Amino acid sequence: MKAAVLFGPGDMRVVDKPVPVPGPGEVLVQVAMCGMCGTDLKIYDGHFPLTPPYGKFTPGHEWTGRVAALGEAVDEFTIGEDVAIEAHHGCGRCDNCVTGKYTACLNYGNPAKGQRATGMTADGGFAEYAIHHVSSLYKLPRPLTYKDAVLIMTAGTGLYGLDVAGAYVLGADVAIWGPGPVGLMTVQAVRELGANSVILVGTRASRLAMGKRLGADEVINARETDVPKRIMELTGGKGVDLAIEASGAVEAPQQCASVMKRGGKILIVAFYPGPVTLDMSAIVRGDISIFTSRGEGGNNVKRAVSLAKRGRLRCSELVTHEFPLDQITEALRVMRERVGDPMKIVVIPPGAPV
Ligand SMILES: [Zn+2]
Ligand SMILES: [Zn+2]
Repeated sequence: MKAAVLFGPGDMRVVDKPVPVPGPGEVLVQVAMCGMCGTDLKIYDGHFPLTPPYGKFTPGHEWTGRVAALGEAVDEFTIGEDVAIEAHHGCGRCDNCVTGKYTACLNYGNPAKGQRATGMTADGGFAEYAIHHVSSLYKLPRPLTYKDAVLIMTAGTGLYGLDVAGAYVLGADVAIWGPGPVGLMTVQAVRELGANSVILVGTRASRLAMGKRLGADEVINARETDVPKRIMELTGGKGVDLAIEASGAVEAPQQCASVMKRGGKILIVAFYPGPVTLDMSAIVRGDISIFTSRGEGGNNVKRAVSLAKRGRLRCSELVTHEFPLDQITEALRVMRERVGDPMKIVVIPPGAPV
């Protein structure tokens, strides 16, 4: 099969590789498409820990496709079925996996102990075929499409954060920073979960416009507006019950802190280029709780499939760019340089199911 392989930092090539053989509990999937995100740039640049060795490793963690073969003891799927995935499969034997926190697996990066984060610590989906553990696959019901499946995994990241934060958002005023794929899927999720109001903060007008289309009640352009002042105005001076930081901008966590209702919650689902500064005394005085979560754990991709199946998550319209697998380095360049303002870029291998 054709597969992208990372030979070193900044050196990705499409080569011939044997089709992988699914072991016990594993499923072979013919990849229909694979999305990319900032994590792929970190991997491409050699800044992501615990990846398999250069010259062998195929990245790509946001893939979807059609079941092609079943490993021993897999009867949950049938050949020919379409599936969505989540990236992380835990070892199943460490303290965190045993308590359900498999995206924080203590054997992360140790495939011999069964941990598999596809496209990060194991081969992924920038290839014609990929294997994954059966527990990380979800049936993709009609009328959902492969493009929907790519964003369903992203929605799982926001839903897992809400899960970790114990965020029963019905009736809550919610502000979300970062109108990228995670932020926009989370805008839709909190709205569908009954938030009283959803305020979206960003810096790019086109993304904010998309956020408005997808259900944000108010959008704030941080380049033009004093964000904390505007959020306090919109909430009648009370602040928000829940602030969700999905932007990764270093100033955003402090903006969250300064618009909180007393007793509110801050949820961080972003990564930052360096340390951030926070007025912790104000956070303690306000009895504010801060939560973080990593990835799409807690079986929340299954929840995202349910929401999407009922037409309550708009997914495929976030896919703005498609590239064939042999142009993967061009796709990475377009994402890095934001050529044509990409929202979600997908890579399509040759012969992919449609
Ligand atoms: Zn990703
Ligand atoms: Zn584990």
